[in-house]
Amino acid sequence: MLSDEKRNRFLQLLKESTKDEWVWMSGYLSALTQPSLGGSSVDVSFTPPVSIDSGNDPLHGNLKTQPIQCSVVYGTETGNSKKLGTELVKKLKELGVSAKLKSTDTYKAKDLKEEEYLFVIVSTHGDGEPPQAAKPFIQILADSKDSLSKVKFAVLGLGDTSYPLFCQTGEDVDSMLSKLGAERIQTLGKCDVDFDLVAKPWMSELISKLNAHSKTATTQSATQTSQAAKPTSGGKVVYEGSVITNIVLNDTGASKSTRHIEIKTTVPIDYQPGDSAGFLAYNRDEEVNRILSLLKTDRETRVTYKGETWMAYDLFRKKVSVRFLPDRVIQKYASLVGKEIPSGKTDLDVLLTLHTSENKLELQTLVDILEPIVPRYYSIASSPSAHGEDEVHLTVAEVEIETFTGIKTGFCSGYLSELKEGEVVPFFIQRNNSFRLPSPDTDIIMIGPGTGVAPFRSFLFEREQNSGNGRNWLFFGERNFVSDFYYQTELLELMDTGVLHRLNAAFSRDTKQKVYVQDRMGENAAELLKWIENGAIIYLCGSKDPMSKDVDRKLIEILTERTFDTGKDASDYLKELEEMGRYIKDVY
Ligand code: NAP
Repeated sequence: MLSDEKRNRFLQLLKESTKDEWVWMSGYLSALTQPSLGGSSVDVSFTPPVSIDSGNDPLHGNLKTQPIQCSVVYGTETGNSKKLGTELVKKLKELGVSAKLKSTDTYKAKDLKEEEYLFVIVSTHGDGEPPQAAKPFIQILADSKDSLSKVKFAVLGLGDTSYPLFCQTGEDVDSMLSKLGAERIQTLGKCDVDFDLVAKPWMSELISKLNAHSKTATTQSATQTSQAAKPTSGGKVVYEGSVITNIVLNDTGASKSTRHIEIKTTVPIDYQPGDSAGFLAYNRDEEVNRILSLLKTDRETRVTYKGETWMAYDLFRKKVSVRFLPDRVIQKYASLVGKEIPSGKTDLDVLLTLHTSENKLELQTLVDILEPIVPRYYSIASSPSAHGEDEVHLTVAEVEIETFTGIKTGFCSGYLSELKEGEVVPFFIQRNNSFRLPSPDTDIIMIGPGTGVAPFRSFLFEREQNSGNGRNWLFFGERNFVSDFYYQTELLELMDTGVLHRLNAAFSRDTKQKVYVQDRMGENAAELLKWIENGAIIYLCGSKDPMSKDVDRKLIEILTERTFDTGKDASDYLKELEEMGRYIKDVY
C-alpha cells in the first residue's frame, strides 16, 4: 500500500497523464515486476483511485473496457504486402492484442474513424501508381470528411528504388492519414525490392512500441470474457452484438436474396470455425398488435406461460411462435373454436381472422396451445483469427414459405434480413465439434452450394492466418453466375494468394440443363480421387434434401473407380470415410 502522501501524488500524476502515458506506465511497472529484471521486490499494488473522473479512471474508463484494436490494411499487386500484413497480424496477436487483416479493395469507409491503430502496408507500381486494389482505399481517404484524431497509424511502403517515385503510394497514404488528423506513431517505412530488409526491423520497432499497451490488453481480455458470461436458461452464453453490416450478396436481376450480415460485440466471442450462431427471433411489432386487437386484449394484460407471468405484448413479441404454425397447433385451435380447419402452414393472425370463435376466446386458453419460439442456427461465415474475436458474420438466405394466404418470408431469416445497422441482436454460439478444420497440413475438399458456403469462408480465412501445407478445394453452386456468385472477389483473391488451390463453381440456371456441384465433382473425379487417397477431408454443407443425398451418390460413383479393383463396395467405403471423420456434413 502507498502512504497517503504517495497515493495522492500518484493520483495526481494519473490525473495529469494521458491514456497513452498510462499505457507506458503500466508496461513499465509490469516490466519492473518481472523477476528477470530484478523487480520482484517492487511493490506495485495500490488501492484503485476513487476520485478520478470516470472518463479517465483506469478501472472504469475506456482503457479498462476496450481492448486494443489493430487493423492491418494491405494493398497489393503481387501478394507481398499481403504476406507482410499477415506476418504483422500474427505478431500483433502474439502480443495479445486484437488484430484484423483487411484488404484495401474491400475496406469499408465507415470503419475509418472507428480505427484505433491502423497499419497500412501498400506497394507502388510503375510511375508512382497505387496497385489497382489500393485505389478504393485511397479514394476513401480522399473523400473522408471525418477527423481521425483518435486514430493512431503507421505506414509501410513497398517499392523499387530504380523508379523515380519510390514508394509514392506509401508516402501518399502516410500524408493523407496525417492530414485527416490521425497520429503517426512510427515514421513511414520504405522497402526496396528486397523488402524484408526494411520491413522486418520496421515491424519489430512497431511491436515494441505496442508492447506496453498489449500487456494492459491481455488483462482486459480476461476481464471481458467474464463480463460476457451471461448464461441463458440452457446454460449458453448470450452475446449482445450490434449489426455493423447487412447487405444483399446477390446482384441486380437475381431471383433470390441472400444476405451477408456482420455482428460486432464489445466482448470476445468464444467460437471456432465450423460453429453456428443461434438466434431467437422476435415476432414483428405490427403482427403482435394485430393479434392483440383481434383478441381485444390490452398490451399490459397479464397471462401465464409455462409457469411464468408475462405481459400479453411481450409474450406475443418475444416468446410464443405465431408464424407458420404447425398442424398440431392448428388442430388444437380448431377444437378450441369448434371448426374444421384444413392442414397447412398458417399464421395465428390469419386463424383469428378466418376462423373466429362463436364464444369469446379466452387469452389464457389460446396461449396454452401455443409453442415457444425456438432458436434458428446459422453457420458462422467469419474466422476469429482473420476477422477478430468480436465479430461473427452470417450468410442468410431469405427463405420464402408458401402459406394459405400466399408466399411469406421465413421467420428468422426475415427477422435477420430486416436488422438495421446499429441494431442490437442477442445470439449464442452452437458448437459443432465434429465440423472442425484438421491440422494445417491436411488437404480439405469443401462442397458448399448456396448458403452452404458460409463455414467454408470461415475455414479459408482461418487457414489463411494459420497456413500449413494443406491444400484447399471449394465446390460452390448457385443459380446464376452474374448475380449469385457469393464472395466472388474474396474467393478469387484467396486463389491469387495461394490459399484456395481449386475453385469449381456450378450455376444451375445459366444453362438449359441444370449444372450442380456434383456435376463439377464428376468432371474432376480423377483429381478428387487423388486428393482423397492423399488423406483429404471432405466437408459438405447446405441443404439436406435432395442436395446432400445427390452429393453422396456422386461421391459413391467417383469412389467406385477406386474400389472397382478391390471388390469393396463404394458406399461402404464412403461410410468408412464418414466414420473416420473424413467425410463430414453439416446439412439442414
Ligand atoms: P439452395 O436452395 O440450396 O440452392 C443453391 C444451389 O443448389 C442452387 O443452384 C440450386 O439450384 C442448387 N441445387 C438444388 N438442388 C440441388 C441438388 N439436388 N444438388 C445440388 N445442388 C442443388 O440455396 P440456399 O439459398 O442456401 O438454400 C438452402 C436452404 O437451406 C434454404 O431452404 C434455407 O431455408 C435453408 N437454410 C438456410 C440457412 C442459411 O441461410 N444459413 C440456415 C438453415 C437452413 P436450383 O435452385 O436452380 O435447382
